[in-house]
Amino acid sequence: MSEPRTVLVTGGNRGIGRTIAEEFLAQGDKVAVTSRNGQAPEGALAVAADVTDSESIDRAFTEIEEKLGPVEVVVANAGITADNLLMRMNDDEFESVINTNLTGAFRTVKRGITGMIRAKKGRIVLISSVSGLYGVPGQANYSASKAGLVGFARSITREVGSRGITANVVAPGFIRTDMTDELSEKQQKEYLSTIPAKRFAEPAEVAKVVRWMASDEAAYISGAVIPVDGGLGMGH
Ligand code: NDP
Repeated sequence: MSEPRTVLVTGGNRGIGRTIAEEFLAQGDKVAVTSRNGQAPEGALAVAADVTDSESIDRAFTEIEEKLGPVEVVVANAGITADNLLMRMNDDEFESVINTNLTGAFRTVKRGITGMIRAKKGRIVLISSVSGLYGVPGQANYSASKAGLVGFARSITREVGSRGITANVVAPGFIRTDMTDELSEKQQKEYLSTIPAKRFAEPAEVAKVVRWMASDEAAYISGAVIPVDGGLGMGH
């Protein structure tokens, strides 16, 4: 097994982020988890941080660097939804989702990239969504934020690809978490009928892909969008 690295997972206190954190812990990495409530799975360093606040992210990185060493892997996972049809969507619903999902990833990666450039190695994994490139009615804000991550990863790749750093996007489909439990039974049935795999996925199915994208084996993959969606978004 490779040397333990320091891994940061934003929004790692529950859902997909928590499972990603557990996956890295299981392979022996040092894992820090941020969220607004500051909880984390056992074995991870729990740090309270809000991705909508650059100073809060800076403080979190400083604490993680002091306690666990330079951050080599950043998984930008924190995300929210505020679904509404475009005609009814207000500015706050649009801006808050962009601010958390897209600008939050920018703030996190920007703070982390200096250390990666210094170390001449790093892995950035951005958790997008099938919604980003497929489009979903009622999710103009969310889809825009998740599609934005693709351009973000690709620009990072062109800026720092020569420094041993990769930046990739993982685009999950329908994964069982608090976020999707909020959908009505009718909505869940409709989604299921469109998924070629005819099932929803468990968070671990995303986490294992993220762990691999951050591994040495994936060193020559950058700027890619990796779907984990049972075939839902084919053609991305
Ligand atoms: P959850 O709602 O279960 O978890 C969201 C996480 O984001 C929580 O840890 C939450 O922590 C954190 N978070 C939200 N806002 C902030 C903030 N301002 N600052 C810091 N942390 C924040 O969601 P999922 O696990 O379902 O989703 C995780 C990611 O995967 C998201 O980016 C989501 O868009 C994406 N995704 C999910 C899919 C699914 O089917 N579930 C499908 C496709 C993509 P706290 O509230 O404590 O701050």
